[in-house]
Amino acid sequence: MTATPATSSPADDVGMAHLGQIIAVASGKGGVGKSTVSTNLTLALAAQGAAVGLVDADLYGPSVPGMLGIVSGKAPTMSPAGKIIPAEAHGIKVMSMGMLTDDDKPAILRGPMVSKYLRMFILEVAWGKLDYLILDLPPGTGDTQLTLAQAFPLTGAIVVSTPQDVSLKIARRGIRMMEQVKVPILGIVENMSGFTCPSCNEVTHIFHQGGGAKIAASLGVPLLGAIPLDPAIVDCGDEGRPLVIAHPNAPASAVYRSIAAILSGRVQATVGVPTPFDWHWADDTSKPKPAAPTARAGSAADVPVTLDRRDGRTLVLRWQDGHDQQIDVRDLRLACRCAACVDEMSGRAVLDPATVPLNIEPTRIWSLGNYAIGVSFSDGHRSGIYTFGQLRGMVTVEVEDV
Ligand code: ADP
Repeated sequence: MTATPATSSPADDVGMAHLGQIIAVASGKGGVGKSTVSTNLTLALAAQGAAVGLVDADLYGPSVPGMLGIVSGKAPTMSPAGKIIPAEAHGIKVMSMGMLTDDDKPAILRGPMVSKYLRMFILEVAWGKLDYLILDLPPGTGDTQLTLAQAFPLTGAIVVSTPQDVSLKIARRGIRMMEQVKVPILGIVENMSGFTCPSCNEVTHIFHQGGGAKIAASLGVPLLGAIPLDPAIVDCGDEGRPLVIAHPNAPASAVYRSIAAILSGRVQATVGVPTPFDWHWADDTSKPKPAAPTARAGSAADVPVTLDRRDGRTLVLRWQDGHDQQIDVRDLRLACRCAACVDEMSGRAVLDPATVPLNIEPTRIWSLGNYAIGVSFSDGHRSGIYTFGQLRGMVTVEVEDV
């Protein structure tokens, strides 16, 4: 066949419901493992029972077919309706420039052609009914990213970074670009964030740790997960059997499954308190509004529908399942698990409770995506991140008249 890209149509959003949630995986620079993350994440979503498609939008250097063991260079077949039948591997559907024959590939891709091919890869493919379509973007913040962000109703973007400062700075630029074109950032994935010992599976942090979490916190986006360096990932990529399939018990595979679980929770309708918020504790300005009553369908135990304060000392939460909770703010400070308060290697507490003033109070509480809050305190501590799950697990203090 000769693949002819669709010409652009203004009906961009029309007829795309069958694609499900469209999630872009981006990175500021190449080699950080973006395609590896896209591929394993797509498979982890499929393992949850979702119907998932993967578009290798890296038109210049498609690597996804190789990672999935898809034989390239054979012309794809067309459906009776004239759509390209996507390749299938390990239960997911895939479209990539690497699947076109040399005759179908343009020798040089200029800007408008990039846009046309991407539209073809998304709109002219017989995907069937999908729950998710994952787009593995080429690295950088250029034309392709802008084209996709503007032409397709993206649910959001995931930004992949390695832990080094320079890579994180570049990731920060990528996040800013997505925000400028109004694509929500679903979160950061930190890749190669520690080393997995091939014999005992123990993860050792060889680069400085926690950079992804700090950047995520400073930008107010979630850290979706930190994937360790694992030599098996390279072999799996070369052999066409991604890690989550070939080594489901590897620590990195568990992280992929956890990211998939977060995503499938996140991209459903937001039911908790509306975000973002930045609540100033002392004068109560910008306190998050309670969730709309209609948003309370279902009964997730880890989604707060109200955040309030009873007095200067008590944070009050009402959870989606109706549970009320009061947390003493000094307990909140003591429960901080940031790198300054807990040794990340051993898990031992570094914070000496005796140094935390009895009259400590929060100064600000702000939303981190839809999964956590950040809290700064009157003792100057400001790197505390509390996931909703962690808050829900905290002890409720007995307070009357809440
Ligand atoms: P990108 O898409 O960002 O250019 P790739 O996904 O192609 O990056 O990955 C680059 C190389 O790094 C590949 O050889 C891949 O197997 C390897 N790699 C990716 N993630 C990891 C990891 N967590 N541990 C070890 N190797 C990895």
